[in-house]
Amino acid sequence: MVLLNSNSNIPDDVIQRSFNGECTKEDALLLLDAQPLELFSFANELREKAVGNTVTYIVNRNINFTNMCVGTCGFCAFKDNGNGRYRLSLDQIMEKVSDAAKIGSTEVCIQGGLLPNVNLDFYQGILESVKSEFPDMHIHAFSPMEVYHAAQLSDMSIKDALVELKRSGLDTMPGTAAEILSDRVRNIICPSKLKTAEWVDVVTLAHKTGIPTTATIMYGHVETIEERIDHIITIRNIQKQTGGFTEFVPLLFMPYNNKIGEDILRSGKFSTTGLEDLKLHAIARILLNTHVDNIQASWVKLGKKLARFALTCGANDLGGTLMEEKISKSAGASHGEYMSPQEFEWLIRGAGRDPKQRTTLYRDV
Ligand code: SF4
Repeated sequence: MVLLNSNSNIPDDVIQRSFNGECTKEDALLLLDAQPLELFSFANELREKAVGNTVTYIVNRNINFTNMCVGTCGFCAFKDNGNGRYRLSLDQIMEKVSDAAKIGSTEVCIQGGLLPNVNLDFYQGILESVKSEFPDMHIHAFSPMEVYHAAQLSDMSIKDALVELKRSGLDTMPGTAAEILSDRVRNIICPSKLKTAEWVDVVTLAHKTGIPTTATIMYGHVETIEERIDHIITIRNIQKQTGGFTEFVPLLFMPYNNKIGEDILRSGKFSTTGLEDLKLHAIARILLNTHVDNIQASWVKLGKKLARFALTCGANDLGGTLMEEKISKSAGASHGEYMSPQEFEWLIRGAGRDPKQRTTLYRDV
């Protein structure tokens, strides 16, 4: 394999370490300072070597069962304990699963706010209902924060809660609630959320219980570039230990209708540009090379055009059809709530790549 052309300014030892899956924090900082096109070209080569020319997507449906929440995350525009609050009944959840099944969804992604008056039985009830009517539907559900919350309310260990959830039908978990895995940042943006070590603990235990997860980063608010890199290296360290991550998904912070975003907008310091988004996808590919093969560009966060461009900067997956998307939309995302399989195929072919529908675990459908 040819790694970059001979005019590249990226030092050979950085290329070699990245190629071997050992890119350091200093290497990553240096790469982020390189010419963007060199960074993108390097990430693109590593992507090609890892997964070839195929770009995947999943036919799935999001179900956010409630927007009521006892959490206090300052970046959240989804929570509503006032007039706009809702909580779906089990029947309403099942209706949505049924709609998902009708259009050929292979996965339902179920998450919600943290309700004060439920326990693990509530979460198990959702899983068991879905599995009893749709045994083949893959259930991708409950963030590490929801699992932590449910375990606390039921006075159980995280491990026991995960075993029970798996027994009730939980197939995989979204690696959300990661935000930035730095307690300095978490104390500013989500002081009552589980801490870095607790997120790592829940996810590691999930993997060890046979529940794979995705990994995410929510970037573009109060974190430093170094903290972004540390976050990705934390993900890599977990993966070395468990092998339980299916993909890494950079999630751009949406600044509208939330306190943190409004403060940043008022200060005039909102800093994420399309270029910065692409660089994050590229550096994630490089830092996670040989460890996590799948880097997702989220069309909901980036928009379709930028997500397609990210396919040339290290990304190899475009996420899901979704059907409904409430969380980003409430914080200002305006890229839609549904993308059809036909549009995914068109978008991917337009980038000169080969589209393929996948399952949650990146298997063929
Ligand atoms: S991000 Fe989640 S946990 Fe935090 S306030 Fe919003 S709904 Fe609640």
